[in-house]
Amino acid sequence: MSGRGGPLPRKMEGQLKKKLGIALALGFLAALAPPARAEAPEYAVKVEGEKARDMMADILRRVPPLKHERGSRWPMILWDGGTFEPQPPDYYGQLLARGLTQHIQLTTNMIPTALLLQQAGSPVIMMQGGGGPWPAQLAGDAKRWRHQLEEGFKPGDSYVHACLLALEGWAIQADNVRRILRAYRDAGVTVDGVWMDWEGDPYSGWDAYEQATHCTRCKAELPPEVLAGPEAFGAYRWKLYLDLIAAYLAAPVKEIFPKCEITNWMIVLSVPGRQPQHWNDRLIRPGLPGALTGCNPVAYGNTVYWKQWKSEWPVDREHVDRFYAHLLLRQVSDDAANRAAWAPWLKSYPWVIRWCPDDEDPKIPVLSRACYREVLRHLWLRDVDGMQIFNARRIGFHDLVTAEVEDAVAVYDEMLAYRDLLDAGTAMNLQVPGPQDEAVWWSGVRAGNRAVVRVFKPGKGKEELALEPWPGKKIELTATDKGCTYLLTLEGEEIHKR
Ligand SMILES: [Zn+2]
Repeated sequence: MSGRGGPLPRKMEGQLKKKLGIALALGFLAALAPPARAEAPEYAVKVEGEKARDMMADILRRVPPLKHERGSRWPMILWDGGTFEPQPPDYYGQLLARGLTQHIQLTTNMIPTALLLQQAGSPVIMMQGGGGPWPAQLAGDAKRWRHQLEEGFKPGDSYVHACLLALEGWAIQADNVRRILRAYRDAGVTVDGVWMDWEGDPYSGWDAYEQATHCTRCKAELPPEVLAGPEAFGAYRWKLYLDLIAAYLAAPVKEIFPKCEITNWMIVLSVPGRQPQHWNDRLIRPGLPGALTGCNPVAYGNTVYWKQWKSEWPVDREHVDRFYAHLLLRQVSDDAANRAAWAPWLKSYPWVIRWCPDDEDPKIPVLSRACYREVLRHLWLRDVDGMQIFNARRIGFHDLVTAEVEDAVAVYDEMLAYRDLLDAGTAMNLQVPGPQDEAVWWSGVRAGNRAVVRVFKPGKGKEELALEPWPGKKIELTATDKGCTYLLTLEGEEIHKR
C-alpha cells in the first residue's frame, strides 16, 4: 500500500506545488480573458470612396435563379428595384426566376411597366412611401389642414403637423386612388397588391401630442379625453391611423380590385396581452386593421435597438446574434399569433433587412449573415405570405446591401422546398426567444399528417428538443448551432422524420 497512496517524496511534492501554482494562475488568467470560443461580432464597414454601382445588375449577377418552384406564392419586392421604366420582358423573367419582382408606384405613368410585368407572369404590386403632413396637405392652403398653433408655442418636431381631423386631403387622395386604379383596370391591368408605406400624420411625430394640445382647432374638434394625456392621445392617433388607411386607401382599392391584397407600413394586429413591439421597445397599441387584407410586421436589424443592449452581456457574435434575432422574430410572431386568434383571414407581408442603420454609429455591431438566414427560415414558418426587402442604397455599403437580397432569396428558395406545407399549413410555434435565451429556437408548419420543423441551438453544441407535433404523438429532434430542418410524417402511431 505504501508508495502511490503514501506521502510524496519532498522533491516531487515541490514540483507538484509549482505545477499546481502555474495551473491555478493560468486558470485565473483564463477567467479574466473572454472564453476562447467567443467570436467577434460583425460590423458594417464602409468602403470609402465607393462609386455608385448598378444594384440590379449586381443582383442578377450574384443571385442565382431559384431551384424550387415558387408556384402561386408571391415574389418578393425590393425597396430599391432599380428603374420603373419599361424593360425588355426578359428582364422581368430574370427577376421572377429569382423569386423577385419589380414593384410599381401608385401613378398612371407606370401602366406600361405594369402591362409588361403582367405579361411576364408577375403579380402587379404597388409600393410607395409617403410622409409628413401628406395626404392632409392635399387640401391646399395650409390654413385648411395645418395645426393652428397658439401664439408663443414652438414645435419641437421638424414640421408642424396636420390637424388630426383634417380629412379633406385624405378624401382627395382616396379619389386619386380610385382614378389611378380605374385607369389600370381600363388598360387591362389587374393590380394584385397595394403595399404602401404611408407613414405620415397622424402616425408620425415625436411631439405630436404637444402640438395637438397647443392647436386651437384640434382642441375644439377632438374629444377632451384624447388630449387628456399622451397615453390617450397615442391610443387615439394609432386607431385613427388604422381607420384612415382602411377608409381612404383600402376601401377605394377594394372598390376597383376586390381581390387586391392591401397593407401599409407597420400595421400589425395588436391585442391586450400580446402587443407587438417597435424596435425602440415601445408597445404597439391594440387595434384591428379594418379593411386591409394583410399586416406589415417589420423585421429589421435596426441599430436603434442597440439602446436596449445590457452592459453585462458579452459583445461577441453569439450574444449579438441572439439579441437581434429576438428583435426580428418578435413583431412577426406576435402579429401572427394575434391574427391566428382574432383575424385568421389577414395575411402577412413583412419588411425584412439584416442591417438598418437608423443609428449610424459604426461601433454598433450587426447581426451575422448566418444568423440572419436562420431567422429568415423561422419567419417563413411563422405564417408569412410574402416578403419585402428593404435594400435601401447606402453609399459605401454596396456589397452589404446587395447581400441582403442574396440572403433573402437563398432562404426563400430553401423554404420553397416545403411550399405545399407553407401554402396549406398552420404555424406550430409563435413563441419568441428572449434577447439572450440559450434555449433551442423552433418553428414549424403543420398540415394534415405532415409538418416541417426548423430547430436551431443558439451558441455552440447541440440539444435534443422534445416536441408533440400532433396530440399525444411525441418526438425528439436534435438541434445544433448550424440548425436543422426536419420533415415529419405521422403514420399511425409513429412519427417519421427525415
Ligand atoms: Zn390641429
